[in-house]
Amino acid sequence: MLFSELGLSPEILRAIEEQGYSEPTPIQAKAIPLVLSSRDLLAAAQTGTGKTAAFMLPILERLKKFANTSVSPAMHPVRALVLSPTRELADQIGVNVKTYTKYLPLRATTVFGGVNMDPQTAELRRGVEIVIATPGRLLDHIQQKTIQLNKVEVLVLDEADRMLDMGFIQDIRKIMSMLPKERQTLLFSATFAPEIKRLASDFMKEPQTVEVARQNATNEQVEQLVYSVEAGRKRYLLSHLIKQRDMSQVIVFCKTKISADQLARDLKRDGLVAEAIHGDKAQTSRLEILSSFKEGSLRVLVATDVAARGLDISELPFVVNYELPNSPEDYVHRIGRTGRAGASGVAISLMSPAETRQHEAIEKLTRQTLTPQVLAGFEPGSSAPREESSHRRERDRDRDAGREHGREQARSAARTPARESQRDPMSVPASALMAGKSGEGLKTIKPAGSSRRSRKAQREVPALLLPPRYKVEVNR
Ligand code: AMP
Repeated sequence: MLFSELGLSPEILRAIEEQGYSEPTPIQAKAIPLVLSSRDLLAAAQTGTGKTAAFMLPILERLKKFANTSVSPAMHPVRALVLSPTRELADQIGVNVKTYTKYLPLRATTVFGGVNMDPQTAELRRGVEIVIATPGRLLDHIQQKTIQLNKVEVLVLDEADRMLDMGFIQDIRKIMSMLPKERQTLLFSATFAPEIKRLASDFMKEPQTVEVARQNATNEQVEQLVYSVEAGRKRYLLSHLIKQRDMSQVIVFCKTKISADQLARDLKRDGLVAEAIHGDKAQTSRLEILSSFKEGSLRVLVATDVAARGLDISELPFVVNYELPNSPEDYVHRIGRTGRAGASGVAISLMSPAETRQHEAIEKLTRQTLTPQVLAGFEPGSSAPREESSHRRERDRDRDAGREHGREQARSAARTPARESQRDPMSVPASALMAGKSGEGLKTIKPAGSSRRSRKAQREVPALLLPPRYKVEVNR
């Protein structure tokens, strides 16, 4: 099938041709005609299937009649709203929309938390037809009356299941109830849990359903290896594998922000160029890390699932599961980052004796046997070679030094008059300081009474990843 057979205008066809899209992906072929017919849509499609273009291209086609170059904000009301669970995904959708609207005078902007609201407010005031937003920040703008949604014709809930996982259900319902009743609603989700079905029945009109093959099968191009190793020695095995296999670029998945930070520090100690990204890092620093990874100057990207969501990184030769995910679907999504588009890839999982349950769940879901192997020198139960022991001692010393530093800070906080310590947003009780494993722990500990959204931001949920099916240029 050709894009030109789907009823899209020449301006849109030209823009996607320039992107190098030669033919629609399955979800695009199915969803574009339905969206063009103004029907509500429930689409089971994961990131990496081309779902963004599946909803955005027909939306542009629908909005084309409103495209204009007037400078009057009144001529550019918000007509399409896309809700995304994370900033990264919102940003990625925004980048795509900019390319798709290259030949159409339709404006688009992204609105997400973690960055200053003022530039977003300025963009919204100037008038913009397409807004891509995370729910929390959108509600902030609604509250401050910096956005009007009374002209919204199309609503997209992207990765609806993830938004639910992240606790956004009430925010989403609130936003949906504020939108015009006469509108088209498109809901994209990897799974259709009862909560999603309820959302659909409460807010959608006779939705059509489309589905593309669920990814519970792993790609045959990906060589999957599992190594049994003691939890405490994973870090050494990882360094060893990166060097031995000459991994030029690798994403390493961790389950928590703390383990991601710790691992990146350990790898740096081993002389590797490594950085961690997770939800506690400032947006600007996350984007910087991502772009250095995309450029190739960063060799190891350590990521939590949630931070890795929405990453559009293609042709990755290696993926490592440093910790096996609790949800076996995440294993499939994680390793889907490699071995795409005919390229071969290697996915390595480091499994500690405590992770057999996760290993079994992965085997069950993917209907394959992944026999754990043991690498000589890293046998479970074997004692660590001398240099590891000295590394460990070094790390323990650092950690003790960090603790002592924390204790000293706590002591000096106790000496400081109360009002002064209250002024410092990072000031935390000594007990909380001790909870952090190192000085870094300070960053993850929020003062008591932190806001609803900051609590939400702290939560890490398993994520859906964006397999590198297609290579894209990134301009940030
Ligand atoms: P998505 O699932 O929307 O995040 O898309 C994943 C990647 O596929 C993005 O980099 C898109 O630019 C790219 N893409 C989307 N549609 C096509 C297509 N028809 N042909 C080639 N690449 C595509």
